[in-house]
Amino acid sequence: MCSIIAYSGKKDAAPILVRSLGKMEYRGYDSVGIATKNGNIIDVKKGVGKVSEVSQNLHLDGMTGTIGIGHTRWATHGRVTKENAHPHYSNSGKIAIVHNGIIENFQELKDQLALDGFSFQSDTDSEIIANLIQQKFEETGNIKQTIIETISKLKGHYSFMVIFEDGTLAAARSREPLVIGVEKDGYYISSDVLGFIEKTDNAIYIDNENFVVINNLDLKIFNFNGISIKPNITKVSKEFADVYKGDYAHFTLKEISEQNETILISRNTTQIEQVSKEIQNAKNLYVTGSGSSYNAAEVMKYLLSKFTKIRINTVIASELPFSPETIEQNSTFIAISQSGESADVLESVRIAKEFKSNILSIINHPNSSLSQESNHIVGLNCGPEIGVAATKSFTSQLGIIYKITDKLCGGCINPDWEKVSESISEILSQNKEIKELSKNLKDISDIYVLGRGIHLPIAKEAALKLKELTYIHAEGIPGGELKHGPLALMDSSVYVIIINPDDSTYNDTINSANEIKARGAKIIGVSNKNSETYDYWIKIPEINEILYPLIEIIPIQLLSYYSALEKNTDPDYPRNLAKSVTVK
Ligand code: GLU
Repeated sequence: MCSIIAYSGKKDAAPILVRSLGKMEYRGYDSVGIATKNGNIIDVKKGVGKVSEVSQNLHLDGMTGTIGIGHTRWATHGRVTKENAHPHYSNSGKIAIVHNGIIENFQELKDQLALDGFSFQSDTDSEIIANLIQQKFEETGNIKQTIIETISKLKGHYSFMVIFEDGTLAAARSREPLVIGVEKDGYYISSDVLGFIEKTDNAIYIDNENFVVINNLDLKIFNFNGISIKPNITKVSKEFADVYKGDYAHFTLKEISEQNETILISRNTTQIEQVSKEIQNAKNLYVTGSGSSYNAAEVMKYLLSKFTKIRINTVIASELPFSPETIEQNSTFIAISQSGESADVLESVRIAKEFKSNILSIINHPNSSLSQESNHIVGLNCGPEIGVAATKSFTSQLGIIYKITDKLCGGCINPDWEKVSESISEILSQNKEIKELSKNLKDISDIYVLGRGIHLPIAKEAALKLKELTYIHAEGIPGGELKHGPLALMDSSVYVIIINPDDSTYNDTINSANEIKARGAKIIGVSNKNSETYDYWIKIPEINEILYPLIEIIPIQLLSYYSALEKNTDPDYPRNLAKSVTVK
């Protein structure tokens, strides 16, 4: 969730670290801090707030030194306070660390360190790493050995970076991402390539359970047993450096508006063919994801069973640890993820591998942890998505799922992608009307989104967008379930969005809408066909009926975005949420 970044080289570290943290802001955070090696001492400055505010208030840019570490925190242990912000010193002040993730056994380690005479300035799990490193370094006098002994004590998932008094920088990862950027006169270590892509596209992806030690320009990589690992430099796609809003007020609006193009991006057909073949040959098939990616997984289930008769089980990634026996031996397990770093999805893949599953993934970040864990991948290729709420990555996931299904059924869908793209443009051009409609939602406390069949996962995705961006309570419900509970909630204070294109679900859904309207709720119909039942009609163009899911989410994304503006919330960085949910 948070970001960590380190620099060791010939340039001033602090301005580099501040800029990198700014570039990775989309990941979500609540506080910011930097440590640099200034002569013989390590300076630390940190505070609560946005990178730009903290940097300005504390003059982070002006910190001296060519070696440093930086952090944006997404609190898991301890409140959002300056004391709990990273970096954390060890008791001697000769070591400082930043940490991303969770140390599960921190209390046990903290108790032991307290018995050994260490004291603590924060409530974080992270501070124990600093003191453990100090203890091990005092015992061994050797940095490599210190890191090996420290990580042998830690349980959980983490990446951390440590700066020693002599200027040595070390970083370790266990189930949290770390990547090194390589320049002639320096190294970056970052949780995301965005941390250094402006400077260099030469990257070394650090494998899970490996650590790095950098002294001056000498870089060494080891696995957790201390065996030396040969660095493998790869070129990172420069496309991920393109993270500017351009003329758009927010990344979220930019990303919503790009979907008429991203839906057309020609996918790697070899990847689609390969993955389709693996699905065809699968004995037992599962598909997983979290949040929007899980909603895409539900669309996949619907399409595969309708057009190919292939049965696929959907699994919510975070639920799998509680029923791992769901997975049959030698299955095929499909993981859908925008970032490829979601801790829940990675954990589900780890479990699936225990059952010897063949791992296929649908993923936007081609060099992510998930791609390293997969036997085959299909890239979304929709470019960086910075807004925390998934928009273009969701429709690109659907695009891939339609292509895979079409391949598997021998071209039975044959989507007219140009028509899909034009339809999206047409919806985007209604932004003024949708903006106007958003004013009605400003003071509403409950919104329901109704859908049937293939529109149900879209209704759930629509409710998720509304929740994420507007903080209004929103729920996606199957039309037929209305009478089994939700109808009790309908009254004049409620808005209900009906996902209702003119297909086989139309009549039943109109009936549901009438039942709701009779209880006084206001109806927003998303459809190609108007109806008297609707208080507001959002018109979507008429297309081949199986393709509606690709376009019907777009107006709700826009509605959520404009409602967020009405409510004065930040659509790019919703409260309490992060883009890459790298903690469980
Ligand atoms: N668990 C640590 C804390 O609460 C690090 C959280 C993070 O990943 O930002 O400070």
